[in-house]
Amino acid sequence: MKRLLQDAILERPLLCDGAMGTQLMLAGLEQGNCGEEWNVTHPERVLAIQRRYTQAGAECIITNTFGGSRIMLNRHSNGDRAVEFNKAGVAIARQSFGDREGYVLGDIGPFGGLLAPFGEFTEAQVQSAFEEQAGALVDGGADAIIVETQTSLEELLIGINAAKTAGAKCIIGSMAYDVTLDGSTFRTMMGVEPEKAASFMEAHGANIVALNCGTGMDMERALAAVKRYKSTTSLPVMVQPNAGKPKLVNMKVVYDETPEQMVRGLMPLLAAGANIVGTCCGSTHEHTRAFRIVMDEFLETRGFEAVGAQYEG
Ligand SMILES: [Zn+2]
Repeated sequence: MKRLLQDAILERPLLCDGAMGTQLMLAGLEQGNCGEEWNVTHPERVLAIQRRYTQAGAECIITNTFGGSRIMLNRHSNGDRAVEFNKAGVAIARQSFGDREGYVLGDIGPFGGLLAPFGEFTEAQVQSAFEEQAGALVDGGADAIIVETQTSLEELLIGINAAKTAGAKCIIGSMAYDVTLDGSTFRTMMGVEPEKAASFMEAHGANIVALNCGTGMDMERALAAVKRYKSTTSLPVMVQPNAGKPKLVNMKVVYDETPEQMVRGLMPLLAAGANIVGTCCGSTHEHTRAFRIVMDEFLETRGFEAVGAQYEG
C-alpha cells in the first residue's frame, strides 16, 4: 500500500508542482472567469499543465480546485457544481502522473471573504462550504488536503476541521506571509506570525505545516520561515514561494524570477530540512525542472536515487 504523504517525506524530501492560476491564464482563461470549471469544460488543458509538472519531476500535484468551494463558485453561478468540479480536479491530477505513483493534494483556497462580524459570511456557512469541498476531494481519491494561501487562523481552522470531517489521510495547512514594509520580518495579512501558525496547526491536528504565495517571500525569506517553523514544531514543513514579486507590465501581471534565480535558494532550504518544496504564482515547469536537478543532487549526496525528469514529452 502507498505510504501516507506525511510518512514518505520523513524519509526524503519530495518535489511539488508550480503555479496553476497563472498557467491557466496562459492557456486562455480570462481574468475573472472560473478556472475550476475548466476541470469539466477543458480537462485536457488542465491536464496538459499538470502533466508538464510531473514530466519535469514533480511528485506532488495540487488539484485545480483553489476556488472550488461553493462560496467561491457562487461568484460564477457554479455553486451547485462544487462536488463535480472538485472530483474532476482530483481525477485530472491523478491522470497527470500516468502510471507513476504520485501524491494528489486536494486544494482548498480561501473562501474569498471575511467572517462575521467583520464580513458577511458566518462560520457555519464557511464550514459547510469547506466540508462539501473537502468531502468531494477525499471521495475523488486525494492523498491529502491542503488548506492554502491562508491569512487567518479562524479560517484555517475551519479548513483543517473540514478536512478531518471528510476523513483526509493527510492535512496540510499553508499560510501566505507578506514581508513587512520595513523588510525586517513577515506575517500574514491578518497579522499571524510563523511560530503562532505552526503551534496552532500542530495543536489542531494538521500533519504538515506549510507556506505558499505571499508578497516578497523569496527563497531567502522562505528559508527563514522554514527555520522558524522548525524551531516551533516537529511536524514536516512544506514551502511554495512565488516566482518573485508581481509586476504590472502592459496591464498584465508578470512574475520575473527565473528558474536559475530561484533554484539558487533550494539547497539551503533542503539543508534546513524542508520536506516538500515547490513553487507558487508565476512559476512554470521550467522552475520545477530546475528544482528537480538540484533536489536530485541533494538526494544523491544522501544515498538516495535521483528521481529525474524521466517522463519526457
Ligand atoms: Zn501564489
